Amino acid sequence: MKTKIFAPLPGNDQTCGWTQGLPLRPTNASLQGEQVCDFVIVGAGYTGLSAARKFAQLNPNAKVIIIEAQRAGEGASARNSGYLVDSTLNDGHMSDTGLQQYREKYRLNKAGVDCVRELVNHHQIDCDWDESGKFHATAVPAHEAKLQRFSDLLQELELEHRVLSGDQLYQRLGTHYYTQALWTAGGIMLQPAKLARAYIDILPANVTLYENSPVLTWQKQGPDFLVSTPMGQVKAPALLMAVNGFMSSAGLKRKRAFPLTLTASMTRPLSDAEYAAIGNPKAWGLLSAQAMGATVRLTEDRRIMVRNTAEVWPAMNMSQSQLLKRKRVHQRGLKRRFPQLDASVFDSCWSGVTCVSGNNGQVFDQLDSKLLVAGCYNGGGIGLATLFGEQMAYMASGQMTDAIAMIQARPKPTPLPPQPILSWGVRLRLMRDAIIARKEN
Ligand SMILES: Cc1cc2nc3c(=O)[nH]c(=O)nc-3n(C[C@H](O)[C@H](O)[C@H](O)COP(=O)(O)OP(=O)(O)OC[C@H]3O[C@@H](n4cnc5c(N)ncnc54)[C@H](O)[C@@H]3O)c2cc1C
Repeated sequence: MKTKIFAPLPGNDQTCGWTQGLPLRPTNASLQGEQVCDFVIVGAGYTGLSAARKFAQLNPNAKVIIIEAQRAGEGASARNSGYLVDSTLNDGHMSDTGLQQYREKYRLNKAGVDCVRELVNHHQIDCDWDESGKFHATAVPAHEAKLQRFSDLLQELELEHRVLSGDQLYQRLGTHYYTQALWTAGGIMLQPAKLARAYIDILPANVTLYENSPVLTWQKQGPDFLVSTPMGQVKAPALLMAVNGFMSSAGLKRKRAFPLTLTASMTRPLSDAEYAAIGNPKAWGLLSAQAMGATVRLTEDRRIMVRNTAEVWPAMNMSQSQLLKRKRVHQRGLKRRFPQLDASVFDSCWSGVTCVSGNNGQVFDQLDSKLLVAGCYNGGGIGLATLFGEQMAYMASGQMTDAIAMIQARPKPTPLPPQPILSWGVRLRLMRDAIIARKEN
Protein backbone atom coordinates (compact mmCIF):
# COMPACT_ATOMS: atom_id res chain seq x y z
CA MET A 1 0.00 0.00 0.00
CA LYS A 2 1.31 3.46 -0.98
CA THR A 3 1.52 6.22 1.63
CA LYS A 4 -1.79 8.08 1.73
CA ILE A 5 -1.77 11.82 2.24
CA PHE A 6 -4.58 13.40 4.22
CA ALA A 7 -5.98 16.53 2.53
CA PRO A 8 -7.78 18.71 3.27
CA LEU A 9 -7.56 18.68 7.05
CA PRO A 10 -10.25 19.81 9.47
CA GLY A 11 -9.75 23.01 11.45
CA ASN A 12 -11.67 24.03 14.56
CA ASP A 13 -13.43 27.28 15.07
CA GLN A 14 -15.26 28.30 18.22
CA THR A 15 -18.52 29.26 16.53
CA CYS A 16 -20.81 26.38 17.54
CA GLY A 17 -23.69 27.42 19.81
CA TRP A 18 -23.85 23.99 21.48
CA THR A 19 -20.18 24.15 22.56
CA GLN A 20 -20.10 27.85 23.42
CA GLY A 21 -22.47 27.29 26.33
CA LEU A 22 -20.26 24.63 27.95
CA PRO A 23 -17.42 25.20 30.41
CA LEU A 24 -13.95 25.25 28.85
CA ARG A 25 -12.45 21.78 28.64
CA PRO A 26 -8.65 21.48 28.97
CA THR A 27 -7.33 19.77 25.86
CA ASN A 28 -5.17 16.65 25.97
CA ALA A 29 -1.56 16.74 24.82
CA SER A 30 -0.78 16.41 21.14
CA LEU A 31 1.03 13.34 19.79
CA GLN A 32 4.82 13.54 20.17
CA GLY A 33 7.52 11.03 19.24
CA GLU A 34 7.04 7.36 18.36
CA GLN A 35 4.21 5.39 19.96
CA VAL A 36 3.16 1.77 19.63
CA CYS A 37 -0.27 0.42 20.47
CA ASP A 38 -2.73 -2.39 19.69
CA PHE A 39 -5.44 -0.31 18.02
CA VAL A 40 -5.12 3.19 16.57
CA ILE A 41 -8.18 5.26 15.74
CA VAL A 42 -8.13 8.42 13.63
CA GLY A 43 -10.96 10.84 14.53
CA ALA A 44 -12.51 11.53 17.95
CA GLY A 45 -16.18 12.02 17.15
CA TYR A 46 -18.98 9.70 18.29
CA THR A 47 -17.61 6.88 16.05
CA GLY A 48 -13.97 6.98 17.13
CA LEU A 49 -14.75 7.54 20.82
CA SER A 50 -17.30 4.69 20.86
CA ALA A 51 -14.88 2.33 19.11
CA ALA A 52 -12.08 3.20 21.55
CA ARG A 53 -14.29 2.75 24.61
CA LYS A 54 -15.66 -0.61 23.51
CA PHE A 55 -12.30 -2.00 22.27
CA ALA A 56 -10.64 -1.04 25.55
CA GLN A 57 -13.42 -2.76 27.51
CA LEU A 58 -13.25 -5.91 25.39
CA ASN A 59 -9.43 -5.99 25.61
CA PRO A 60 -8.50 -4.61 29.04
CA ASN A 61 -4.81 -5.31 28.53
CA ALA A 62 -4.65 -3.61 25.15
CA LYS A 63 -3.38 -0.09 24.53
CA VAL A 64 -5.64 2.09 22.40
CA ILE A 65 -4.71 5.46 20.88
CA ILE A 66 -7.10 8.00 19.36
CA ILE A 67 -5.64 10.80 17.26
CA GLU A 68 -7.78 13.89 16.68
CA ALA A 69 -6.85 16.76 14.38
CA GLN A 70 -8.60 19.38 16.48
CA ARG A 71 -10.36 19.39 19.85
CA ALA A 72 -11.98 16.03 20.46
CA GLY A 73 -15.71 15.74 19.88
CA GLU A 74 -15.98 19.20 18.34
CA GLY A 75 -16.46 18.19 14.70
CA ALA A 76 -19.90 17.20 13.44
CA SER A 77 -20.49 15.35 16.71
CA ALA A 78 -20.83 18.66 18.58
CA ARG A 79 -22.26 20.64 15.68
CA ASN A 80 -25.29 18.57 14.74
CA SER A 81 -28.93 19.35 15.41
CA GLY A 82 -29.30 16.81 18.21
CA TYR A 83 -32.03 14.55 16.74
CA LEU A 84 -31.51 10.96 17.82
CA VAL A 85 -34.05 9.22 15.63
CA ASP A 86 -35.56 5.78 15.06
CA SER A 87 -38.02 6.54 12.24
CA THR A 88 -37.11 8.72 9.27
CA LEU A 89 -39.50 10.32 6.81
CA ASN A 90 -40.09 8.03 3.84
CA ASP A 91 -42.32 8.96 0.98
CA GLY A 92 -44.40 5.92 0.14
CA HIS A 93 -42.57 2.58 0.44
CA MET A 94 -45.82 0.72 0.69
CA SER A 95 -44.93 -2.23 -1.52
CA ASP A 96 -43.93 -5.40 0.34
CA THR A 97 -40.22 -4.94 -0.41
CA GLY A 98 -40.45 -1.23 0.37
CA LEU A 99 -42.10 -1.95 3.68
CA GLN A 100 -39.61 -4.67 4.51
CA GLN A 101 -36.69 -2.40 3.61
CA TYR A 102 -38.09 0.36 5.78
CA ARG A 103 -38.57 -2.10 8.63
CA GLU A 104 -34.87 -3.06 8.41
CA LYS A 105 -33.76 0.55 8.25
CA TYR A 106 -35.93 1.26 11.27
CA ARG A 107 -34.42 -1.70 13.14
CA LEU A 108 -30.92 -0.37 12.51
CA ASN A 109 -31.81 3.17 13.64
CA LYS A 110 -33.56 1.75 16.71
CA ALA A 111 -30.42 -0.23 17.59
CA GLY A 112 -28.48 3.06 17.39
CA VAL A 113 -30.98 4.80 19.67
CA ASP A 114 -30.83 1.91 22.17
CA CYS A 115 -27.03 1.98 22.13
CA VAL A 116 -26.94 5.69 23.06
CA ARG A 117 -29.74 5.25 25.60
CA GLU A 118 -27.82 2.46 27.35
CA LEU A 119 -24.71 4.63 27.65
CA VAL A 120 -26.67 7.64 28.84
CA ASN A 121 -28.41 5.55 31.52
CA HIS A 122 -25.35 3.58 32.55
CA HIS A 123 -23.05 6.60 32.92
CA GLN A 124 -25.79 9.03 33.99
CA ILE A 125 -24.80 11.30 31.11
CA ASP A 126 -26.23 14.80 31.25
CA CYS A 127 -27.05 15.67 27.62
CA ASP A 128 -30.51 17.29 28.01
CA TRP A 129 -32.11 13.99 26.96
CA ASP A 130 -35.72 14.67 25.96
CA GLU A 131 -37.91 11.74 24.95
CA SER A 132 -40.84 13.85 23.80
CA GLY A 133 -40.60 12.71 20.15
CA LYS A 134 -40.12 14.76 17.00
CA PHE A 135 -42.29 16.54 14.44
CA HIS A 136 -42.22 16.30 10.64
CA ALA A 137 -44.00 19.36 9.31
CA THR A 138 -45.00 21.25 6.22
CA ALA A 139 -46.02 24.83 5.53
CA VAL A 140 -47.47 23.93 2.12
CA PRO A 141 -50.88 22.21 1.91
CA ALA A 142 -49.79 20.44 -1.30
CA HIS A 143 -47.06 18.63 0.70
CA GLU A 144 -49.47 17.24 3.29
CA ALA A 145 -50.03 14.11 1.20
CA LYS A 146 -46.41 13.17 1.95
CA LEU A 147 -47.10 13.30 5.67
CA GLN A 148 -50.24 11.23 5.14
CA ARG A 149 -48.22 8.54 3.33
CA PHE A 150 -45.70 8.58 6.17
CA SER A 151 -48.54 8.20 8.64
CA ASP A 152 -49.82 5.15 6.68
CA LEU A 153 -46.35 3.64 6.83
CA LEU A 154 -46.01 4.21 10.57
CA GLN A 155 -49.46 2.70 11.00
CA GLU A 156 -48.31 -0.47 9.21
CA LEU A 157 -45.35 -0.69 11.56
CA GLU A 158 -47.56 0.08 14.57
CA LEU A 159 -45.38 3.04 15.52
CA GLU A 160 -47.03 5.63 17.71
CA HIS A 161 -47.66 8.91 15.93
CA ARG A 162 -50.24 11.67 15.54
CA VAL A 163 -51.15 14.23 12.86
CA LEU A 164 -51.70 17.78 14.13
CA SER A 165 -52.99 20.89 12.41
CA GLY A 166 -54.75 24.17 13.09
CA ASP A 167 -54.94 25.51 16.61
CA GLN A 168 -53.66 22.31 18.19
CA LEU A 169 -50.45 22.62 16.17
CA TYR A 170 -50.12 26.32 16.91
CA GLN A 171 -50.53 25.72 20.66
CA ARG A 172 -47.83 23.04 20.62
CA LEU A 173 -45.23 24.91 18.52
CA GLY A 174 -46.02 28.57 19.12
CA THR A 175 -46.06 29.38 15.39
CA HIS A 176 -48.79 29.64 12.74
CA TYR A 177 -46.25 28.90 10.01
CA TYR A 178 -46.97 25.19 9.53
CA THR A 179 -50.21 23.86 8.09
CA GLN A 180 -49.71 20.29 9.28
CA ALA A 181 -47.27 18.20 11.32
CA LEU A 182 -46.82 14.55 12.07
CA TRP A 183 -45.52 13.79 15.55
CA THR A 184 -43.70 10.48 16.14
CA ALA A 185 -43.02 9.07 19.58
CA GLY A 186 -39.57 7.49 19.08
CA GLY A 187 -37.38 10.58 18.55
CA ILE A 188 -35.09 11.91 21.27
CA MET A 189 -33.78 15.46 21.36
CA LEU A 190 -30.44 16.04 23.02
CA GLN A 191 -27.55 18.49 23.37
CA PRO A 192 -24.98 17.00 20.95
CA ALA A 193 -21.87 18.71 22.35
CA LYS A 194 -22.67 17.51 25.88
CA LEU A 195 -23.01 13.96 24.57
CA ALA A 196 -19.66 14.18 22.74
CA ARG A 197 -17.95 15.54 25.87
CA ALA A 198 -19.38 12.68 27.91
CA TYR A 199 -17.99 10.16 25.41
CA ILE A 200 -14.54 11.65 26.11
CA ASP A 201 -15.04 11.59 29.89
CA ILE A 202 -16.00 7.89 29.97
CA LEU A 203 -12.98 6.64 28.03
CA PRO A 204 -11.34 3.77 29.96
CA ALA A 205 -7.84 4.17 31.38
CA ASN A 206 -6.23 2.07 28.63
CA VAL A 207 -7.21 4.65 25.97
CA THR A 208 -4.93 7.63 25.23
CA LEU A 209 -6.48 10.52 23.34
CA TYR A 210 -4.19 12.95 21.53
CA GLU A 211 -5.75 16.22 20.43
CA ASN A 212 -4.68 18.92 17.99
CA SER A 213 -2.72 16.25 16.12
CA PRO A 214 -3.78 16.16 12.47
CA VAL A 215 -2.87 12.93 10.73
CA LEU A 216 -0.91 13.96 7.64
CA THR A 217 -0.12 10.54 6.17
CA TRP A 218 -0.86 6.88 6.80
CA GLN A 219 0.52 3.70 5.32
CA LYS A 220 0.94 -0.02 5.84
CA GLN A 221 4.46 -0.98 6.94
CA GLY A 222 4.89 -4.74 7.13
CA PRO A 223 2.12 -6.09 9.36
CA ASP A 224 1.50 -2.68 10.98
CA PHE A 225 -0.06 0.65 10.12
CA LEU A 226 2.01 3.78 10.51
CA VAL A 227 0.07 6.98 11.13
CA SER A 228 2.00 10.26 11.12
CA THR A 229 1.19 13.69 12.56
CA PRO A 230 3.41 16.83 12.50
CA MET A 231 5.28 15.81 15.67
CA GLY A 232 4.73 12.10 16.10
CA GLN A 233 3.94 8.66 14.75
CA VAL A 234 1.85 5.73 15.92
CA LYS A 235 2.44 2.14 14.88
CA ALA A 236 -0.34 -0.41 15.40
CA PRO A 237 -1.52 -3.70 13.89
CA ALA A 238 -5.09 -2.38 13.53
CA LEU A 239 -6.37 0.99 12.30
CA LEU A 240 -9.87 2.48 12.29
CA MET A 241 -10.55 5.53 10.15
CA ALA A 242 -13.40 7.31 11.95
CA VAL A 243 -13.24 10.64 10.14
CA ASN A 244 -16.71 10.68 8.54
CA GLY A 245 -16.87 13.85 6.36
CA PHE A 246 -13.09 13.57 5.87
CA MET A 247 -13.18 10.01 4.56
CA SER A 248 -12.38 11.09 1.04
CA SER A 249 -9.60 13.37 2.42
CA ALA A 250 -8.05 10.18 3.80
CA GLY A 251 -8.14 8.63 0.33
CA LEU A 252 -10.95 6.25 1.27
CA LYS A 253 -14.38 5.61 -0.30
CA ARG A 254 -13.94 8.52 -2.71
CA LYS A 255 -16.31 6.90 -5.19
CA ARG A 256 -18.98 6.08 -2.59
CA ALA A 257 -19.22 8.89 -0.05
CA PHE A 258 -18.87 12.66 -0.20
CA PRO A 259 -18.78 15.56 2.29
CA LEU A 260 -21.57 18.07 2.62
CA THR A 261 -21.34 21.28 4.65
CA LEU A 262 -24.33 22.33 6.72
CA THR A 263 -24.77 25.61 8.59
CA ALA A 264 -27.01 26.46 11.55
CA SER A 265 -27.73 29.40 13.83
CA MET A 266 -29.00 29.47 17.40
CA THR A 267 -30.57 32.24 19.47
CA ARG A 268 -29.64 33.22 22.99
CA PRO A 269 -32.21 32.00 25.56
CA LEU A 270 -35.45 33.91 24.93
CA SER A 271 -36.45 36.40 27.63
CA ASP A 272 -39.68 35.84 29.56
CA ALA A 273 -41.40 38.43 27.34
CA GLU A 274 -40.14 36.84 24.09
CA TYR A 275 -41.09 33.40 25.29
CA ALA A 276 -44.56 34.59 26.29
CA ALA A 277 -44.91 36.21 22.85
CA ILE A 278 -44.59 32.79 21.24
CA GLY A 279 -47.05 31.22 23.69
CA ASN A 280 -44.67 29.52 26.21
CA PRO A 281 -44.55 26.20 24.34
CA LYS A 282 -42.69 23.18 25.71
CA ALA A 283 -39.41 22.26 23.95
CA TRP A 284 -39.74 20.67 20.50
CA GLY A 285 -37.75 19.47 17.50
CA LEU A 286 -39.09 19.66 13.97
CA LEU A 287 -37.88 18.32 10.64
CA SER A 288 -39.23 19.48 7.32
CA ALA A 289 -41.30 17.24 5.05
CA GLN A 290 -38.95 18.42 2.26
CA ALA A 291 -35.28 17.48 1.92
CA MET A 292 -33.99 21.06 1.91
CA GLY A 293 -36.62 22.45 4.27
CA ALA A 294 -35.59 23.83 7.66
CA THR A 295 -34.73 21.81 10.76
CA VAL A 296 -35.91 23.89 13.73
CA ARG A 297 -35.64 23.28 17.48
CA LEU A 298 -36.89 25.04 20.57
CA THR A 299 -34.67 23.84 23.41
CA GLU A 300 -35.48 23.35 27.07
CA ASP A 301 -33.49 26.50 27.89
CA ARG A 302 -35.65 28.46 25.38
CA ARG A 303 -33.17 28.77 22.54
CA ILE A 304 -34.27 28.39 18.91
CA MET A 305 -31.98 26.67 16.41
CA VAL A 306 -32.54 26.95 12.66
CA ARG A 307 -30.68 24.90 10.04
CA ASN A 308 -31.85 25.46 6.49
CA THR A 309 -28.63 25.52 4.46
CA ALA A 310 -26.59 22.66 2.95
CA GLU A 311 -23.91 22.93 0.29
CA VAL A 312 -20.89 21.50 -1.43
CA TRP A 313 -18.13 23.59 0.13
CA PRO A 314 -14.52 23.38 -1.03
CA ALA A 315 -12.91 24.43 2.27
CA MET A 316 -13.31 22.88 5.71
CA ASN A 317 -14.33 26.05 7.53
CA MET A 318 -16.20 29.21 6.75
CA SER A 319 -14.96 32.73 7.46
CA GLN A 320 -17.08 35.09 9.57
CA SER A 321 -18.38 36.83 6.44
CA GLN A 322 -19.30 33.50 4.83
CA LEU A 323 -21.13 32.47 8.01
CA LEU A 324 -22.88 35.84 8.14
CA LYS A 325 -24.39 35.19 4.68
CA ARG A 326 -25.82 31.86 5.92
CA LYS A 327 -27.00 33.48 9.15
CA ARG A 328 -29.15 35.87 7.09
CA VAL A 329 -30.87 32.84 5.53
CA HIS A 330 -31.43 31.41 9.03
CA GLN A 331 -32.79 34.78 10.19
CA ARG A 332 -35.32 34.79 7.34
CA GLY A 333 -36.36 31.28 8.42
CA LEU A 334 -36.79 32.48 12.01
CA LYS A 335 -38.83 35.55 11.01
CA ARG A 336 -41.16 33.45 8.85
CA ARG A 337 -41.98 31.30 11.86
CA PHE A 338 -41.75 33.85 14.65
CA PRO A 339 -42.36 37.35 13.21
CA GLN A 340 -42.72 38.63 16.79
CA LEU A 341 -39.01 37.90 17.49
CA ASP A 342 -36.20 40.22 16.47
CA ALA A 343 -33.74 38.47 14.12
CA SER A 344 -30.86 39.79 16.28
CA VAL A 345 -31.70 37.11 18.90
CA PHE A 346 -29.34 34.74 17.06
CA ASP A 347 -26.06 34.75 18.91
CA SER A 348 -24.19 31.92 17.18
CA CYS A 349 -23.80 30.55 13.66
CA TRP A 350 -21.60 27.62 12.68
CA SER A 351 -20.83 25.17 9.91
CA GLY A 352 -20.26 21.42 10.15
CA VAL A 353 -19.12 18.75 7.72
CA THR A 354 -21.19 15.63 7.35
CA CYS A 355 -20.95 12.68 4.99
CA VAL A 356 -23.57 11.39 2.55
CA SER A 357 -23.90 8.71 -0.11
CA GLY A 358 -26.09 8.48 -3.20
CA ASN A 359 -28.50 5.91 -1.73
CA ASN A 360 -28.32 6.69 2.03
CA GLY A 361 -26.10 3.62 2.51
CA GLN A 362 -23.51 3.74 5.32
CA VAL A 363 -19.84 2.73 5.33
CA PHE A 364 -18.88 -0.13 7.66
CA ASP A 365 -15.95 -1.90 6.04
CA GLN A 366 -12.95 -4.01 6.73
CA LEU A 367 -10.66 -3.04 3.84
CA ASP A 368 -7.95 -5.47 4.73
CA SER A 369 -7.74 -7.72 7.73
CA LYS A 370 -7.06 -4.85 10.14
CA LEU A 371 -7.93 -1.69 8.22
CA LEU A 372 -11.40 -0.58 9.23
CA VAL A 373 -13.50 2.36 8.13
CA ALA A 374 -16.89 3.51 9.44
CA GLY A 375 -19.02 6.55 8.74
CA CYS A 376 -21.28 8.16 6.14
CA TYR A 377 -24.41 8.12 8.28
CA ASN A 378 -26.22 10.57 6.00
CA GLY A 379 -28.73 12.42 8.24
CA GLY A 380 -28.61 10.02 11.20
CA GLY A 381 -25.21 9.90 12.82
CA ILE A 382 -25.84 10.23 16.54
CA GLY A 383 -27.22 6.73 17.04
CA LEU A 384 -25.49 5.06 14.09
CA ALA A 385 -22.02 6.48 14.83
CA THR A 386 -22.27 5.21 18.41
CA LEU A 387 -23.47 1.80 17.25
CA PHE A 388 -21.02 1.50 14.32
CA GLY A 389 -18.11 2.59 16.53
CA GLU A 390 -18.91 -0.07 19.12
CA GLN A 391 -19.37 -2.75 16.47
CA MET A 392 -16.06 -1.79 14.83
CA ALA A 393 -14.45 -2.57 18.19
CA TYR A 394 -15.94 -6.08 18.05
CA MET A 395 -14.66 -6.49 14.46
CA ALA A 396 -11.17 -5.35 15.47
CA SER A 397 -11.30 -7.86 18.34
CA GLY A 398 -12.20 -10.65 15.90
CA GLN A 399 -15.72 -11.09 17.32
CA MET A 400 -18.91 -11.43 15.30
CA THR A 401 -22.18 -10.00 16.67
CA ASP A 402 -25.85 -9.86 15.60
CA ALA A 403 -25.47 -6.09 15.17
CA ILE A 404 -22.54 -6.57 12.76
CA ALA A 405 -24.67 -9.00 10.73
CA MET A 406 -27.52 -6.48 10.69
CA ILE A 407 -25.25 -3.63 9.58
CA GLN A 408 -23.58 -5.76 6.89
CA ALA A 409 -26.97 -6.76 5.47
CA ARG A 410 -27.85 -3.10 4.77
CA PRO A 411 -27.31 -1.66 1.26
CA LYS A 412 -23.77 -0.37 0.68
CA PRO A 413 -23.27 3.13 -0.75
CA THR A 414 -23.70 3.01 -4.53
CA PRO A 415 -20.92 4.25 -6.87
CA LEU A 416 -20.79 7.98 -7.50
CA PRO A 417 -19.72 9.75 -10.69
CA PRO A 418 -16.12 11.06 -10.82
CA GLN A 419 -15.20 14.62 -9.88
CA PRO A 420 -15.97 17.32 -10.95
CA ILE A 421 -19.23 15.80 -12.27
CA LEU A 422 -20.06 14.64 -8.73
CA SER A 423 -19.82 18.12 -7.19
CA TRP A 424 -21.82 19.69 -10.03
CA GLY A 425 -24.43 16.95 -9.76
CA VAL A 426 -24.78 17.40 -6.00
CA ARG A 427 -25.02 21.19 -6.42
CA LEU A 428 -27.78 20.78 -9.02
CA ARG A 429 -29.64 18.33 -6.79
CA LEU A 430 -29.38 20.68 -3.78
CA MET A 431 -30.59 23.55 -5.97
CA ARG A 432 -33.56 21.50 -7.17
CA ASP A 433 -34.44 20.47 -3.60
CA ALA A 434 -34.08 24.08 -2.42
CA ILE A 435 -36.55 25.23 -5.10
CA ILE A 436 -39.07 22.56 -4.08
CA ALA A 437 -38.59 23.49 -0.42
CA ARG A 438 -38.49 27.28 -0.95
CA LYS A 439 -41.65 27.74 1.14
CA GLU A 440 -40.37 25.36 3.81
CA ASN A 441 -37.07 26.91 4.76
C1 LIG B 1 -25.02 20.71 11.05
C2 LIG B 1 -25.20 19.22 11.20
C3 LIG B 1 -26.43 18.74 11.68
C4 LIG B 1 -26.59 17.35 11.88
N1 LIG B 1 -27.74 16.93 12.48
C5 LIG B 1 -27.85 15.63 12.88
C6 LIG B 1 -28.93 15.21 13.70
O1 LIG B 1 -29.77 16.00 14.10
N2 LIG B 1 -28.99 13.91 14.03
C7 LIG B 1 -28.04 13.00 13.65
O2 LIG B 1 -28.16 11.81 13.98
N3 LIG B 1 -26.98 13.38 12.89
C8 LIG B 1 -26.85 14.67 12.52
N4 LIG B 1 -25.75 15.09 11.82
C9 LIG B 1 -24.72 14.09 11.45
C10 LIG B 1 -23.83 13.69 12.65
O3 LIG B 1 -23.37 14.83 13.32
C11 LIG B 1 -22.65 12.85 12.16
O4 LIG B 1 -23.12 11.78 11.40
C12 LIG B 1 -21.84 12.31 13.33
O5 LIG B 1 -21.37 13.33 14.14
C13 LIG B 1 -20.69 11.47 12.80
O6 LIG B 1 -19.79 11.20 13.86
P1 LIG B 1 -18.31 10.77 13.51
O7 LIG B 1 -17.61 10.52 14.78
O8 LIG B 1 -18.34 9.68 12.51
O9 LIG B 1 -17.72 12.04 12.75
P2 LIG B 1 -17.22 13.46 13.33
O10 LIG B 1 -17.95 13.90 14.50
O11 LIG B 1 -17.14 14.37 12.15
O12 LIG B 1 -15.76 13.10 13.82
C14 LIG B 1 -14.72 12.86 12.91
C15 LIG B 1 -13.47 13.48 13.50
O13 LIG B 1 -12.37 13.14 12.66
C16 LIG B 1 -11.45 14.19 12.76
N5 LIG B 1 -10.49 14.15 11.66
C17 LIG B 1 -10.73 14.37 10.34
N6 LIG B 1 -9.57 14.32 9.65
C18 LIG B 1 -8.59 14.05 10.54
C19 LIG B 1 -7.18 13.89 10.44
N7 LIG B 1 -6.52 14.03 9.27
N8 LIG B 1 -6.47 13.63 11.57
C20 LIG B 1 -7.10 13.47 12.76
N9 LIG B 1 -8.43 13.64 12.91
C21 LIG B 1 -9.17 13.92 11.82
C22 LIG B 1 -12.34 15.43 12.73
O14 LIG B 1 -11.68 16.56 13.24
C23 LIG B 1 -13.52 14.98 13.57
O15 LIG B 1 -13.44 15.41 14.90
C24 LIG B 1 -25.54 16.45 11.54
C25 LIG B 1 -24.34 16.94 11.04
C26 LIG B 1 -24.16 18.31 10.87
C27 LIG B 1 -22.83 18.81 10.36
